[in-house]
Amino acid sequence: MKDLLARLGIDDVNPGAWIGSRPLPPASDARVASDDPTTGRPLAQVALASRDQLEQVVQASQQAFEKWRQVPAPKRGEVVRQMGEVLRQHKQDLGRLVTLEVGKVLSEGLGEVQESIDMADLAVGMSRQLFGLSMHSERASHRMTEQWHPLGPVAVITAFNFPNAVWAWNAMVAMVAGDSVIWKPSLKAPLTAIATHRLLAPVAEAHGFPGLLTLVIGADAEVGEAMIRDPRLPLVSATGSVRMGRHVGQVVAGRLGRSLLELGGNNAIIVTADADLELALRGIAFGAVGTAGQRCTTTRRVMLHEDIAEDFLRRLVAVYEQLPIGDPMEPGTLVGPLIDRLAVEQYQAALAAAVAQGGEILTGGQVLDRPGSFVRPTIVRARHDMPVCHEETFAPILYAMTFRDLDDAIRWNNEVPQGLSSAIFTDSLRSAERFLSAHGSDCGIANVNIGTSGAEIGGAFGGEKDTGGGREAGSDSWKAYMRRQTCTLNWGTDLPLAQGVTFDI
Ligand code: NAD
Repeated sequence: MKDLLARLGIDDVNPGAWIGSRPLPPASDARVASDDPTTGRPLAQVALASRDQLEQVVQASQQAFEKWRQVPAPKRGEVVRQMGEVLRQHKQDLGRLVTLEVGKVLSEGLGEVQESIDMADLAVGMSRQLFGLSMHSERASHRMTEQWHPLGPVAVITAFNFPNAVWAWNAMVAMVAGDSVIWKPSLKAPLTAIATHRLLAPVAEAHGFPGLLTLVIGADAEVGEAMIRDPRLPLVSATGSVRMGRHVGQVVAGRLGRSLLELGGNNAIIVTADADLELALRGIAFGAVGTAGQRCTTTRRVMLHEDIAEDFLRRLVAVYEQLPIGDPMEPGTLVGPLIDRLAVEQYQAALAAAVAQGGEILTGGQVLDRPGSFVRPTIVRARHDMPVCHEETFAPILYAMTFRDLDDAIRWNNEVPQGLSSAIFTDSLRSAERFLSAHGSDCGIANVNIGTSGAEIGGAFGGEKDTGGGREAGSDSWKAYMRRQTCTLNWGTDLPLAQGVTFDI
């Protein structure tokens, strides 16, 4: 563990503010510890950034932006390509650090870094495809075009559960769009952020852009608030809970800035009577239990047709009872720890509420008696209208309910405040199309015969309603990081006005 941290440049105490590869000296004695959720022991500490340091970071980011926006986009893409190469070289170490710091099993830790590499590749391609339009003017000898320009320094606020990839979804695209990036990671996963930043900032620096990538790890009340209120940051991209996003969205809107919000989900899978049940079983188990239930796309509700429900639940319970729970670094482990003790308490509180509301725990429900923050993945027999089923609890709790009519199941899918991911397992073309239709699932992601989690970066990612409406990755995601300009050029000798208006002087 010490060797891994040392290889990634992590010390016992690490600076919390960075301009390129230059750390700013600690502003005070305020520290945050990053704990290993598998053992509960501290891995390292970070000196919290101050408001004053944020000011230095914003100024450096602004200066970098002034120059960076003048670099041709394909050349910006080349810098991002080189960052992708650095991630490739360090994928094993970075993936292990993700596993160490947030407790997801190693194949998921490595998969997360792979996702960042994929984002770099996607962004490189985009760097030659930041297309505008040409329109036909109603006026003779006029040409109308639309073009896209860089936006400015972009604030990227990330959640703990994807401590590497959420930044990459934003930063790789923002950089090819011509923006500089200020990263404020979660205080629950600061070491992955520092290691990622220390690997990639030198690439920008080697091209003469030390302020292109900056990092600021500070308290929400001090640094986070100052960031979201700062009019020099035209876009705030924030990933996290609905509570956080509702606040950030309102503050940024208050200064007429733009926000890109990727918030909580409450994702359901519908299983019809004609479904391939083996496929459904695997899709639900991965969706509900993968990352110990700590993905925004985790399957939290399953709606089973009454003809197959009891038998299917028996099989699902049997799968749950054999799940290998333990050290996420060990090959074969499928369930690692929750992020911290608070998450364990939230798991217990949600189960108590579920039982009080009439739910029945079919399997799980226990906190493991061992160091770290381990709980047993749990299935609760529930009704669709239990209030707890409408909340996101960031833990492996699956609420199972039974339906007769597909229309009811689709209505239940849609009745929660969140709208991120959804899926149906069915072999009926009609049921699949009903689910995907305009009066089907209301979520940003709707899948057939695949679970709710594990999206590919080629598709736009995000959700509706309380999930915040943002989209990242996917074909035209670069537009969020650029400003749109309509240009009309008159190459004639007259000055006709649009809509036939005359103004003769
Ligand atoms: P969180 O809301 O506690 O924190 C997210 C980030 O917001 C952190 O960096 C935090 O420091 C920051 N923050 C909080 N208050 C702030 C403020 N006032 N000003 C500025 N920044 C502030 O979320 P979390 O526990 O880290 O992550 C879990 C949540 O994230 C879940 O709800 C999950 O569904 C969601 N999530 C969503 C997506 C998505 O793409 N939709 C992806 C990953 C996680």
